Amino acid sequence: MSFIQLDLSEPLLKAISEQGYSEPTPVQKQAIPLILQGRDMLAGAQTGTGKTAGFALPLLQLLHNQPLPTKPHPIRALVLTPTRELAAQVYESFRAYGRHLPLFSEVVFGGVSIHSQIRRLQQGVDILVATPGRLLDLLHQKQIDLGQVQFFVLDEADRMLDMGFIKDIRKVIKVLPEQRQNLLFSATYDKEVKTLAAQILQNPVEVAVAREKITADNIAQRIYAIKREYKRELISWLIGHGNWQQVLVFVRTRHGADRLCKQLLKDGIRCSALHGDKSQGARSRALAGFKEGKVTVLIATDIASRGLDIDQLPHVVNFDLPELAEDYIHRIGRTGRAGAEGEAISLVAPEEAYLLAAIEKLLKKAIPRVADTGYEPVFLNMGKSAKAKASNSRRKKTGLITKKTKPSSSKRGERNSGRKQTGKSARGHKV
Ligand code: AMP
Repeated sequence: MSFIQLDLSEPLLKAISEQGYSEPTPVQKQAIPLILQGRDMLAGAQTGTGKTAGFALPLLQLLHNQPLPTKPHPIRALVLTPTRELAAQVYESFRAYGRHLPLFSEVVFGGVSIHSQIRRLQQGVDILVATPGRLLDLLHQKQIDLGQVQFFVLDEADRMLDMGFIKDIRKVIKVLPEQRQNLLFSATYDKEVKTLAAQILQNPVEVAVAREKITADNIAQRIYAIKREYKRELISWLIGHGNWQQVLVFVRTRHGADRLCKQLLKDGIRCSALHGDKSQGARSRALAGFKEGKVTVLIATDIASRGLDIDQLPHVVNFDLPELAEDYIHRIGRTGRAGAEGEAISLVAPEEAYLLAAIEKLLKKAIPRVADTGYEPVFLNMGKSAKAKASNSRRKKTGLITKKTKPSSSKRGERNSGRKQTGKSARGHKV
């Protein structure tokens, strides 16, 4: 099937071909015709499936089909996203796909000046992409009118709920006109998402694309079982020894991200941290530097696990395992994109064994362990107790048994010599 068969207009087809897309992805094939028919939709699709174009293209088409409003254009389409990064990406997609149409897109999120956003909104906007917090600020300040919204998209609804945005979403919905088309995208459907969907959607069609990415053959997943205190040294060695040029590292906490970044910088590795405590400017700079290859390692909390679209990212490392098994899938989904080969490595300390059990349960398979990590072997207790904890991975972690073995000094020696051999210049990581 080609995009032409999807009944998209010439300006959109032109933009699509400029993007280099030759055919629609599965979610686009399913979603575009139904959205064009005006249906409400519950779509199970995660980032990486082409879902953004799946809703952006038909919305642009539907807006373009209407008579052009007088200026300033009222907001006719509203897209809510959980994170600033995703908002920025969705906005860029609308701009790219709509570049040959006389429609205006805008994005608003926190962490940057509200005044310039207000000025831009006053000039008229057809499509607004927003994070909930800043949108509510603008509403409270009466700087935005959502009274003419006809199309409402909740992107990554499961993430929104995880991040505690439910009340904000309800407040936004209250100010939208009753008559509108609603699209809800979510990577997962738990009870909360279903309840939200039932409240928002009218007689929705359901669209789901298989999560082939979970077990994508092109992502090599591996586990290094290692004591927590050696993780930093191991990651530094992996980067140097493998001469990795672009690696996204996930850590659990903001503090942990900053600490690891400092340590890697000391090892001569160019890295930046990306997390919610950083100003929006710093977040954008970190991401841009990483995408341009100026920074080798981007250390991120789960804020970056979804939505980020970095082409051909070769390596993802879980420095800490995520509390939610689903997040593992989102994290490793940053690699092996668009058919490229990818590698996802997880450094797992004994006390994280129950998190690994939850992940493997979700994947329905075991992730291969690296037999010789070069460090003191550690035992990951994947027995009954870990599995019991896995059924509630949100629970606070507790210590699990470590099999005590003596450190293997020869292995450590090899590791050190390995790091020296690759050295700074060989890696190209100048301090
Ligand atoms: P998304 O899931 O919306 O974040 O999209 C993931 C990536 O797929 C983005 O880089 C898009 O530019 C790209 N993409 C979207 N649709 C297509 C398509 N039909 N063909 C090739 N790439 C696409």
